[in-house]
Amino acid sequence: MQHFKIKTQQGVKVIECSPMKEAGFVAAFSTRLGGVSKLPENSLNLTLFSADTEANVSENRRRFLSALEVSRNSQPQIITVKQVHSADSHIVEGLLPTTPIACDALLTNAKNILLGIQTADCLPVLVVDPKNRAVVGIHAGWRGTLSRIVEKSIARLVETYGSNPHDCLAATGPAIGQCCFEIGAEVQEVFEKEFSYGSKLFSYHQPNGKSNMDLRLANQEQLINSGVQKENIFHWPDCTRCQMDLYFSYRGEIATGAVGRLLSVIGLA
Ligand SMILES: [Zn+2]
Repeated sequence: MQHFKIKTQQGVKVIECSPMKEAGFVAAFSTRLGGVSKLPENSLNLTLFSADTEANVSENRRRFLSALEVSRNSQPQIITVKQVHSADSHIVEGLLPTTPIACDALLTNAKNILLGIQTADCLPVLVVDPKNRAVVGIHAGWRGTLSRIVEKSIARLVETYGSNPHDCLAATGPAIGQCCFEIGAEVQEVFEKEFSYGSKLFSYHQPNGKSNMDLRLANQEQLINSGVQKENIFHWPDCTRCQMDLYFSYRGEIATGAVGRLLSVIGLA
């Protein structure tokens, strides 16, 4: 795991992508440890929703930024949006508009902004362009992946900032692994129809038609098809459902109550 560094500060554990940090970016994934939310006790839930309070989320975000050591020199603002499993993206140029935005990818080249991707099983994908100093954060569940959200977001990066994907670095964070991501035959079918490599994304085929999907591999294919070099793609391979002591897992926890959200952040340092 030479491409990642785990940092722990007062119980808060964060995972930083080293090559992105060395290139001058803030690029990190959160865990569930070291917070104040009761999801259950001491959870670092980083998204406001009905089962948590604004005060808790605000304190958790403060601790998260503190562990990342980005709050000392600047006061970066974390930008999150209403994620809807689309393939739509939004360019962040400054403060958020008052009307909430619904989309699943964010791009910026502005300083003091951290794009935040909220997940609990879905795959967070972070992309940086070190030459043109621009970043992308993507929320990729199977629906967004099917709609080619990574390919569309990188196309938008190229069009907006003149980026060359060949120069870009990409990282994927904690997400449900192929070990646990069981899906129905109808999902496999649409993937096989949409992608030439569709069949290689599924394994552990069961007699009832269900199989397990490799969401990380699916999005790696899109990164490579967009022109990102394979050696510039870094995977933090942990499965959220296998490691519910460390991560929130929607599939693993929803039956027993509300599920917190992890946050992946990307921005110019
Ligand atoms: Zn698993």
